[in-house]
Amino acid sequence: MYPSLMPFFDHNATTPLHPAARAAWLEAADRFWANPSSLYGQATAARDLLADCRERLADSLGCNDPGRIVFPSGATAANNLLARHLSTSAPPDAVALVSPIEHPAVDASIRAAFPGRVHETGVDSEGVVAPEAVAGALDGAGHRPIAVVSIMAASNESGVLQPWQDLASLCRDRHIPFHTDASQWLGKLPAVGLAGCDWVTGSGHKFGGPRGVGFLVVPADSRFRGDLGGPQEQGQHAGTENLPGIAGMVAALEARERDLSTIAKQGAAQRDAAIELLRELLPAGKVVSGNAERLWNTLAILIPGADSRKLVAALDRAGIEASTGSACSSGAASAARVVAAIALSLGLAPGAPAGMVRFSAGPDTTAADWQAAMHALAEAVIANAGPARPPRVDLR
Ligand code: PLP
Repeated sequence: MYPSLMPFFDHNATTPLHPAARAAWLEAADRFWANPSSLYGQATAARDLLADCRERLADSLGCNDPGRIVFPSGATAANNLLARHLSTSAPPDAVALVSPIEHPAVDASIRAAFPGRVHETGVDSEGVVAPEAVAGALDGAGHRPIAVVSIMAASNESGVLQPWQDLASLCRDRHIPFHTDASQWLGKLPAVGLAGCDWVTGSGHKFGGPRGVGFLVVPADSRFRGDLGGPQEQGQHAGTENLPGIAGMVAALEARERDLSTIAKQGAAQRDAAIELLRELLPAGKVVSGNAERLWNTLAILIPGADSRKLVAALDRAGIEASTGSACSSGAASAARVVAAIALSLGLAPGAPAGMVRFSAGPDTTAADWQAAMHALAEAVIANAGPARPPRVDLR
């Protein structure tokens, strides 16, 4: 189905374009190129296509009001819009509540919007945010107004799933807005029901759509004004709409949703078989969040004494494309903080060297790909093994 990029194990960073997305993108770019805001016939056709895309995405999300959806340029842009909107619409003393495992696109934008007014929920040893932890953190905020509770639906690092349905319902009962960044959930698990959250973020290129397009679901009564500028998207998000991108993203999600139950079942079986093999080949490797419910496509492995970047480079030489974690920014090895937290939760001594490799499969990944990946990892660990170097002290 996809171009021959396999074995590609970095689908949590980005995905190849789904053929349905490519066809929809090309058709919109060729036939519906007019500006949807203009007043002549061709523009009406573009406007109709935009409305159709919005309705179909609303359908996929179980949302009965397509007007709640706006189309920013990706999940980072969506999360920044959300944070900025909340910082200007919430009372000046309002606080925000986030989990400690949010993607920087949520964490940094919320912290910038609520300086010194961000509270963190607890997570259990598997990285799960229990509703009780959120309830406790909300109680801890005292009488201050809560602008938002933001908890991701599925982790880009470990694939761990958060009980967003229960968290949304807890927040609804307390009349507190709930946001979930569903960038990693969408296209891997059913989208329907997500619109039950007040705010939802999605990103096209994480599920076979084009890059540079995403969406934000906003509450019906939010008077959301995401950007200053033109009156596009019912005055909610300024700027000429990226119609080919939107059409491609919606087509990709629909295509993924059609095959989801087969893909998810098959993917989970392959991933579990890979874990069995890993136990034989590399008993020291620890599966991150291994006892929690996780995305069927994600396997993050912590290896005591290893260096993440060296392992990823060795895997690359063996023809396996994986990552150190931290999704989009994995090349920067900014995973160090995350790896340290995970290592602690897996019982490693604080400061003990450890590397993490994340494999994230796609719909076309085969059992043979997974086996090749586990063999290549074990070989890379053996080849890179050596006495752990003491931390370097820079005296300058
Ligand atoms: N949120 C999550 C959970 C992600 O995994 C990512 C990318 O890895 C993003 C946001 C950023 O997405 P985008 O590239 O669409 O800005």
